[in-house]
Amino acid sequence: MNKPENYLIATSTIPEILAELHSQYQTLKDGVVANYIPELAKVNPDFFSICITTVDGQTYEVGDFQQLFTIQSISKVFVYGLALEDHGRDYVLTRVGVEPTGDAFNAIILDEQSKRPYNPMVNAGAIATTSLIKGKGATERLNRVLEMYKKYIGRDVFVDISVFTSERSTGHRNRATAHLMLNFGMIEQNIEESLDLYFQQCSAMVTCRDLSVMAATLANKGINPITQERAIDNRYIKDILSVMYTCGMYNFAGEWAYKIGIPAKSGVSGGIIAVVPGKMGIGVFSPLLDVRGNSIRGVKVCEELSQRLRLHLFDCVGI
Ligand code: GLN
Repeated sequence: MNKPENYLIATSTIPEILAELHSQYQTLKDGVVANYIPELAKVNPDFFSICITTVDGQTYEVGDFQQLFTIQSISKVFVYGLALEDHGRDYVLTRVGVEPTGDAFNAIILDEQSKRPYNPMVNAGAIATTSLIKGKGATERLNRVLEMYKKYIGRDVFVDISVFTSERSTGHRNRATAHLMLNFGMIEQNIEESLDLYFQQCSAMVTCRDLSVMAATLANKGINPITQERAIDNRYIKDILSVMYTCGMYNFAGEWAYKIGIPAKSGVSGGIIAVVPGKMGIGVFSPLLDVRGNSIRGVKVCEELSQRLRLHLFDCVGI
């Protein structure tokens, strides 16, 4: 798992590899942009960027890396971390499990026996984790989430109000999921407040560059490698990365773990983060999605990066 020489060779070639992958996959136009949230359907499908931030604070970027978009499901990773900090591992485990579902990200299902949502990387589990975020009322809870993003990114973060209201007025599946969990006592009574917070955390605006810094912070034991600020208690890094590895790419998580082999998370706006522990964070943004809701170019780029930079965690050939 420790590949120091390969890693040195790899970083020196990163800029060329990024440029090559960008021009190679720019012509790939397969997939569709998410349209079940009406505001997301307005995005330019051609946007495409790839960024890598290393744990020593170097950032490599190509394409539309300054373009803002809403973070969507990638938020689930970071809010899970905040819930762990707020309540500790044991309590959070009573409210949300760590099993992959094999189902779509928005499936309305709970574990038959425990009545817990399966894991924090799908909508049901994420709504449950969001409901755990502490704070006196909606504003304080939102501010805590925004403060948390700020530590991972290194600048102030804002919510895209159009996407938030679009999602709030059409998010009937998420509302149904929250009601099901309320029925089983898995979330607290103020579900509208928690749903609003969930829609707001998903509507936070980030760039591809930000995604790579956020991923690099997780790769760097919870310390933002650019600002040197701690974003998350390092005792929770292994919890977060484990569920990203097994559940982060929804019903593609198994194939992803097999082929690409690093913890990752995608979102329906077209972002993907991937974390190479102790080495680097990867961010890719391209809004054209496959049927599971994962960015098509994003998956291809990560697959190539994993092969070319020898990133698969269990790749031990030649060590
Ligand atoms: N906000 C989106 C939703 O709840 C997030 C889904 C996603 O990115 N997969 O439907």
